[in-house]
Amino acid sequence: MVEKNLRADEVNGPSARPALGRLPPYNAGISASVARQISGKEDVICLGSNENPYGSSPSVGAALWGLIPSRYSDPMCASLRNAISDRLGVAADRIVCGNGSEELIAALCRAYLEPTDHVLTVSPCFGLHEIEPMAAGAQVIKVPMTENLDFDVQGLVAALANGPKILFISSPSNPVGQALCEQALLLITDAVRPGTIFVLDEAYAEFISIGAPDGLTNLKHRSDLHWVVLRTFSKAYGLAGLRVGYAITSNYGLARTIRATLTPFNVNAVAQTAAVAALRDTAWMIEATTRLRHDREVLADRLRRLGLRVIPSQANFLFIDLPMDAAPVAGVLLQKGIVVKPWMETGYTNFIRVTIGTAEQNERFAQELEGAVNLR
Ligand SMILES: *Cc1c(COP(=O)(O)O)cnc(C)c1O
Repeated sequence: MVEKNLRADEVNGPSARPALGRLPPYNAGISASVARQISGKEDVICLGSNENPYGSSPSVGAALWGLIPSRYSDPMCASLRNAISDRLGVAADRIVCGNGSEELIAALCRAYLEPTDHVLTVSPCFGLHEIEPMAAGAQVIKVPMTENLDFDVQGLVAALANGPKILFISSPSNPVGQALCEQALLLITDAVRPGTIFVLDEAYAEFISIGAPDGLTNLKHRSDLHWVVLRTFSKAYGLAGLRVGYAITSNYGLARTIRATLTPFNVNAVAQTAAVAALRDTAWMIEATTRLRHDREVLADRLRRLGLRVIPSQANFLFIDLPMDAAPVAGVLLQKGIVVKPWMETGYTNFIRVTIGTAEQNERFAQELEGAVNLR
């Protein structure tokens, strides 16, 4: 097995770039099969990677029947981009599809970053918002979230004055769950200078509370700054295994530049067909996200009644502050067949992030957590 992360002492060949040896590891989580091995249990519960516990729309499977695997996929992703364009009301030439939105994060870094550049993000942050800029040789500056784990808007505004090449923010935040309110978004966009690209990663947009506008709605008509909104089919649409995400850009030039760094057939045919079918079945997605939003609040209340601090969430997961180091607690849960993600970033190692599963899975998690943290 070839692992993803290089150790510093492995980067000793003549051609590997030294930046690769300095990358923080990406914590890709534990798969169901590994969890089965470790726990010795057949019915493991995977709440570590923010996947959809309800799977995906039944129309996805049906759409894949006619697929001809011997043909290359459409390098333009025309059907998918047109479907997204119709849905969002943004011209298709401002949309770029990727092999997961993570590919688009990498593409942005490859397209725009020089070793003299710096990137601004927050902490705690989504791992790839730090790893990909570093892999491109750039420096990463992080503005910590406030004590309530909300965005430090003033801190971000101040740091934007130093002219980062890219600002990466996930909203709703992974791992925290909170979303930028309209006013915070406005303050940040006002501070974005012409040399900065504002990348708003909305992987969880579909889980935002009803009535609260998402970031794209506010940015869609802003041609006065450079912005990119990232979305994915991995979370609300339940297609994580197929790898398909997209970027909506403030202008055609940005889309062209990102596209130029990608391989020609970057999104495979299965992924493109599945994503179009998933997008058409909005009813399925709304039903799943409505249920998950409801169950998110039920679980948050349940955990708060145990005396735990649970950060308010607009996503399909909760960020939970434990009265102890989170890694051993996650280890105990894993022995019981439950996978969660203990956060590894400095300053946040008391937190676990748990994905909202079915109501039964959430209850089993709450019971086992109660035992593991010894709250009973
Ligand atoms: C899950 C996630 C992604 C990755 O999505 P893919 O489309 O599966 O690559 C990107 N950004 C954030 C913040 C995520 O949580």
